[in-house]
Amino acid sequence: MLRLLPKMDEILNHPEIIALCEELGKPVVTGAVRQAIEDKRKCILDGGTTPPDVLGIICAAKEISWRKLKRNLRKVINATGTVLHTNLGRSRLSDKAVQAVTEVAGNYSNLEYNLEKGFRGERYDCLTGVITELTGAEAALVVNNNAAAVLLVLSALAKGKRVIVSRGEQVEIGGMFRVPDIMDQSGSILVEVGTTNKTHAIDYEANIDENSVLLKVHTSNFKLIGFTEDVDIKTLKEIGERHNVPLIYDLGSGSLINFESYGILGEPDVISSVKDGADIICFSGDKLLGGPQAGIIIGKKAYIDIIKKHPLTRAFRVDKMTLVALEATILEYYDEKAAVNNIPSLKSILSGGEVVKKRAESLYNKIKSLNNDVCCDIVSSKGTIGGGSMPGLLIDSYCVGIKDKSKSVNTLEKLLRFAEVPVIARISDELLLIDMLTIDDEDLDYIASTIISIL
Ligand SMILES: *Cc1c(COP(=O)(O)O)cnc(C)c1O
Repeated sequence: MLRLLPKMDEILNHPEIIALCEELGKPVVTGAVRQAIEDKRKCILDGGTTPPDVLGIICAAKEISWRKLKRNLRKVINATGTVLHTNLGRSRLSDKAVQAVTEVAGNYSNLEYNLEKGFRGERYDCLTGVITELTGAEAALVVNNNAAAVLLVLSALAKGKRVIVSRGEQVEIGGMFRVPDIMDQSGSILVEVGTTNKTHAIDYEANIDENSVLLKVHTSNFKLIGFTEDVDIKTLKEIGERHNVPLIYDLGSGSLINFESYGILGEPDVISSVKDGADIICFSGDKLLGGPQAGIIIGKKAYIDIIKKHPLTRAFRVDKMTLVALEATILEYYDEKAAVNNIPSLKSILSGGEVVKKRAESLYNKIKSLNNDVCCDIVSSKGTIGGGSMPGLLIDSYCVGIKDKSKSVNTLEKLLRFAEVPVIARISDELLLIDMLTIDDEDLDYIASTIISIL
């Protein structure tokens, strides 16, 4: 059987493969043919009993070629009901941000060029004006993500200093990024104060000296409830000022709108944190802000100037695509109504149950009109924010729940995941749930036809 294996040339000269080479390029196809023959050889050596045939090898080579050229990172449909799903890329960009990325990515840009003066400019200039105007901060800087921002800020401002932080704020963000480890890495000395559930102003006072830095970390990914107390930024600012030490606030999510005015409590916003007096604030670009992955550092100009000069700033610098996406996202916030409407994450969080219910009805009707026998129903559910933001907050949502007589829910879940555009759904109570909170109306036809075809 091994002797029956076709030779490379025999396959490469086959008209179908010649046509494929023209379509996909010779290097990919040649590699695929080699692999297809090799796969067959292994199969025979492992005891396979079907003899090799030319058409079979060609068929395999075609499949391998197409698979190789298919992008691995691609669109999926988030039907999980978790808005900032870290595994699914957290925030989706607004249309304007997407357009901005497309324009700048495919062209030259004034990334580090001052158009007025006609010579070298600063990479962050495009952004600092709008960030400082909207937040009220004196100065701003952008790095790769908020984890980098925290490390940079501590490295630049707290190296060799005692960083005073509440025991209740010793957060692990994920991926082993833990506040104590970051301190270590930055060369600062962790001084834990207070207890797990309660920290008072006096705990900070008792430990502070002129060689200290005050750090507050927003406990954005867990909730402490019951007999608890922490010290707010205003009070910490007073303590810091009295001892002439800076106050750093790792805000985590960093919302530019005040969620309280929408009835969502407990998430501090960037603007109030600036007003309350934090000297340096850092937050993520792709959590509640709804932009690209980035870490935004704002605050007193004197401190930002020191941070800018630290070598890590260069190591953590962001790409033009990130910068322009972030700029376009932040520009949306000049008009809060527009921001809430145009930024997909905000829209999902704030659009309200009725809108989601209508979307569920629409999908339900589409499925039923394609095949009235499909066993599905509209069920109410609760979505979450995710991405380590607003733990415990549940958002009213609706799902289309699906069942099938012959296929298990696990099989249905898998088949949806394997679809041309994967649909990531969840399973609950023997139902496959398509959560409508995080789905675009434009995707409903595709989801309906995909469901019909897998059933
Ligand atoms: C999410 C988070 C970070 C890390 O932000 P990334 O942008 O994910 O790197 C840091 N600190 C806090 C408090 C966070 O919630």
